[in-house]
Amino acid sequence: QAKRLHRGRAIAFTEDLGLAARERIRLLTDLRSAFHAERLHLAFQPLVDLATGSVVGAEALLRWTTEEGDVIPPDRFIPVAEHSGLMIALGEWVLRTACDQLKRIIELGHTGFRMAVNVSQAQFREPDFISILERVLHEHEIDPKRIELELTESIAIGQIASTAAKIAEIRRMGVSVALDDFGTGYSSLSVLKQLGVDRIKIDRAFVQELGHSSDNGIADLVVALGRQMDLGTIAEGVETEEQRRYLMERGCKDGQGYLFGRPMSSDAFEAWMADRL
Ligand code: C2E
Ligand code: MG
Ligand code: MG
Ligand code: MG
Repeated sequence: QAKRLHRGRAIAFTEDLGLAARERIRLLTDLRSAFHAERLHLAFQPLVDLATGSVVGAEALLRWTTEEGDVIPPDRFIPVAEHSGLMIALGEWVLRTACDQLKRIIELGHTGFRMAVNVSQAQFREPDFISILERVLHEHEIDPKRIELELTESIAIGQIASTAAKIAEIRRMGVSVALDDFGTGYSSLSVLKQLGVDRIKIDRAFVQELGHSSDNGIADLVVALGRQMDLGTIAEGVETEEQRRYLMERGCKDGQGYLFGRPMSSDAFEAWMADRL
């Protein structure tokens, strides 16, 4: 009886599902098969020293190419994966694939190179996260100093103390931690201080205002904050020489953006790096 009632409700529920919800389910199903069919890959975008232009590392960015050849951007599918549990497996795959690439870059001779890997909230909160990280680094024989994890401010919502403790444990391993998209979330300065990260990444939105508006306020503030708190700063979305110079003069150390290089396929990135030895 209860079962029949339940099933009846489930059907009504399915019929009521809005188009958006049905699309999300479809997207998740497709994503899951794309993952198993190895149709996901990583793109690599250089991180450079704003003053010298030399490459200091790269950020690994997830891409999904459909059978039809369309590329679906991560902003569309990661939030869907995040609410399904698939993100845990996907995240581990990203870490492993980024480590494979890092190994090849180091073998090319770029020994000081760091690989930045994005970590989602579900992944970070997973109890096994640190042991997975340790295992992957160990298996790849990678010096933890060569890895940086990018976390967003939202990771800490409602769990500041436990997040800070986990970040501290990660940093004790030698892996560095950056706060991504800084300035777009809700965290206060005291939260930033409590989290104890190595670096803050200035969100693209604030970098792109530079030179287009008279208000350079937020980018300036983030750079000053980094200096004050002795944190590294990295600007994302640097597209013009003007922006590079401005940020560099303010004391921002590193940058990432189309001015230096777009996200590239693994092969293209290795060729790009080989040209820079
Ligand atoms: P993000 O971590 O803030 O990554 C930077 C984004 O800015 C990337 O978008 C990059 O392609 C874009 N970008 C860099 N320079 C420029 C520029 O000069 N101009 C413009 N217009 N854009 C620039 P992408 O690759 O679409 O990734 C979007 C977001 O998806 C990432 O933002 C990150 O939050 C998430 N993401 C990507 N890969 C992963 C992953 O492996 N795991 C997780 N959890 N999230 C990921
Ligand atoms: Mg990032
Ligand atoms: Mg970012
Ligand atoms: Mg961003």
